[in-house]
Amino acid sequence: MLAMTGKHATALQETSDAVVELRSISKTYRDLAAVDNVSISVGRGELLCLLGPSGCGKTTTLRIVAGFVEPTSGTVSINNMDMTFQPPHRRDTGMVFQSYALFPHMTVAANIAFGMENLKWARAERDERVREMLRLVELPHLADRLPSQLSGGQQQRIALARALAIRPAVLLLDEPFSNLDAQLRVRMREELREVIRGVEVTTLFVTHDQEEALTMSDRIVVMNAGKIEQIGTPGDIYEKPETSFVAKFIGQCTVLEGIVGADGAFTAKAGLRLPGNWKPGPGCAVIRPEQIKMPSDRPAGVTYKARVVQSHYYGEATRVVIDVNGEQLMMQERFPFGLNPKSGDVLNVTLDTSEIRIIRKNPQS
Ligand code: ATP
Repeated sequence: MLAMTGKHATALQETSDAVVELRSISKTYRDLAAVDNVSISVGRGELLCLLGPSGCGKTTTLRIVAGFVEPTSGTVSINNMDMTFQPPHRRDTGMVFQSYALFPHMTVAANIAFGMENLKWARAERDERVREMLRLVELPHLADRLPSQLSGGQQQRIALARALAIRPAVLLLDEPFSNLDAQLRVRMREELREVIRGVEVTTLFVTHDQEEALTMSDRIVVMNAGKIEQIGTPGDIYEKPETSFVAKFIGQCTVLEGIVGADGAFTAKAGLRLPGNWKPGPGCAVIRPEQIKMPSDRPAGVTYKARVVQSHYYGEATRVVIDVNGEQLMMQERFPFGLNPKSGDVLNVTLDTSEIRIIRKNPQS
């Protein structure tokens, strides 16, 4: 049983190894359930990402952990202390906001020192920690600049240094790359991951970018309309989606509705048959573009005749929508120079059906 959630932090009677523990958290605004019965445990040193489309409740969940939003019901604990009603500065968290929220009139050094001043760290210890943080984010020469004199990537790193300076138990990041251009975003996420790994801080991170989530996280929580759809490692989420929402949200894929017959083969609504050994019953087949190959590469699988519906050249590969027995599938292939298929072309394609995942309509059936 949990201790009573009064207005003061209390040790929980039921302890857990998790650093952050959300239990049955809900947040309602009038008749809207922004967060709906969400339970998440974040382990020590883990980097956990909340991923989902705009409006699914991920920022509200993060702000409930930070203490900027009070949940309608449920509890938040950090290091086994009930924090549900504690103000943000009592929670031992460091937060990096989408807009970085650096204090514009303070130098970089003063921004980084801010939290330590509030916590009444001694001057010498504070100054040493500021230097250490600037070395960590590789910007030791910018201590005296104002935020307006920094690039977007530099501001992002200073915001991270400020959040980490007080050695928080939990680092909270709200879409920290959204203000950066595409190239810088890729570089910064690699750097950020290195820094977070280096200091081994437990991290909760919000994004709507599936590539960001797959490359950075230890585990991903996929949210949809306030609820959790699936929690798992990036590999689990991509290779073993449990719902068609997760399959469609993570990476490119085709989801076909159909039924597995007594012989274990899947037949899609329009008639496309995928031989296999699945359990009979209704379900959805998830087919990733990379599972469809050209027979010339001698892949294992079943070969089908396909008509090209659309073809888009991306440089490193061409993404092609093909019609196979009345179902439209997406494939991705690097064709020899000058041989990219055009709409109306007919191709032979091979599908390794053993790699295809069937999502059961009703897992109990
Ligand atoms: P985004 O990626 O667009 O930031 P999100 O997944 O972070 O979206 P939230 O900001 O958590 O979504 O919002 C979840 C839902 O709650 C949305 O429908 C939003 O409009 C609503 N919401 C959030 N804050 C409030 C508020 N203060 N008052 C009323 N509704 C709110």
